[in-house]
Amino acid sequence: MIDAQALVKTFDFQLDIQSDNESLLRDACLESRSVYNETIRLAKDGVDWDAIPDRVADDANIVKNTTQRVVAKALGAMENYCEYDDFGQPSHTKDGAYPLRANYEEGYNLSLTDDGNVAFRISAKPYKHVKGILEGDDAHLDILKTALTSDEWKIGTAEALFHDENAELHVNITNTEQTIRNKQNSRAVVGVDVNEDNVALTALSEDGVEDTLVIDFPEIKFERHRYFTMRKRVQNAEKDSIHDTLEGREERFIRDRLHKVSRHIVEWSQQFEKPCIVFEDLKEMRDSIDYGTRMNRRLHHLPFRALQYYTSYKAAFEGIPTGWIDPYKTSQRCPLCGHAERANRNKKRFKCRDCEHQDHSDRGASVNIAVKGVKKHQDWNVPALNSLPVVRTVRRQASGAVDAPTVTHPTVRGYQADGRVGVSN
Ligand SMILES: [Zn+2]
Repeated sequence: MIDAQALVKTFDFQLDIQSDNESLLRDACLESRSVYNETIRLAKDGVDWDAIPDRVADDANIVKNTTQRVVAKALGAMENYCEYDDFGQPSHTKDGAYPLRANYEEGYNLSLTDDGNVAFRISAKPYKHVKGILEGDDAHLDILKTALTSDEWKIGTAEALFHDENAELHVNITNTEQTIRNKQNSRAVVGVDVNEDNVALTALSEDGVEDTLVIDFPEIKFERHRYFTMRKRVQNAEKDSIHDTLEGREERFIRDRLHKVSRHIVEWSQQFEKPCIVFEDLKEMRDSIDYGTRMNRRLHHLPFRALQYYTSYKAAFEGIPTGWIDPYKTSQRCPLCGHAERANRNKKRFKCRDCEHQDHSDRGASVNIAVKGVKKHQDWNVPALNSLPVVRTVRRQASGAVDAPTVTHPTVRGYQADGRVGVSN
């Protein structure tokens, strides 16, 4: 087994096209579709794969090495099909745009502008360029700027594509100094239970539960509700521009907070020997949570995805692997006796109907997530859990990294969630 893997990240940016020729990029993406289709068609016809790149490139009206990248991707799809023939044969008759895959400094280029932005130049067609500025997550832009100036990161291939009618560039970046440890090779598994107003962490090793931490962020929930109501109001009044401004402002606020929380999770995890951070797999999330109303679903959506994602990539920068488990019944199961029943849980309070174990619900869920993570990825056994350490709670407050003093709660007596104050400002 290989001990580590390269740290490769794909960052998605929006294209602010300033050369006023978005249609050129669109055409190129349609041409990319023809290249893909033609490659698949030739491969199905039994043409020698080595001969395909040149045959296709001769006819394609996009930059040659970009054509080659698209051909390679299509052949990759064919190869997968040949290896696992239950995947269904790739189609060569679809139409519509297809990502334009390009080599750095050949099919596309990036540069820093004087005012600190990242400019892009995509060779959409031979001698015809689409130019502008990249937009996107600040953290991703920061890494990209670092990559442009230091040897620590290497910029690789990128894909220009249209997502919901918006032009995007997905850039591959490899860290040349850092590798990620293989997750199978971990000594501690940190289960992360992400909620609307907190995240619960439990570190589990062969010896038992090492520690638990609950990071409360009531103001994220508070602000999201506040913005949701405000946006609803202007939406009803059909004031779209205000709506969009609010959305942007809310997003920046939430993003900033989630970055801080995710940093906290990674720092906390680093105290354990060879940690692996484990999350619930979002794809299976819907069944496991009591989605009451449509609003609830909306409110839940962003923090889950973003926090897991931010944490996962920050962990990767520290060489820490992440894993994903099926969330089935993680919030209802008793971490001590295994009894699972909906009635075990009442909001933040957990009381097992079988063994009467009492706990902070979210902490309990994080234990269950850690247990599933050990079973899924590790070759060591889940230790017997007879008791759990007290739950420590910290709170992430407004403006900067101000942690409230640590509060401890004896788990045996149950966890008082009701008396806590929300946001003060
Ligand atoms: Zn129990």
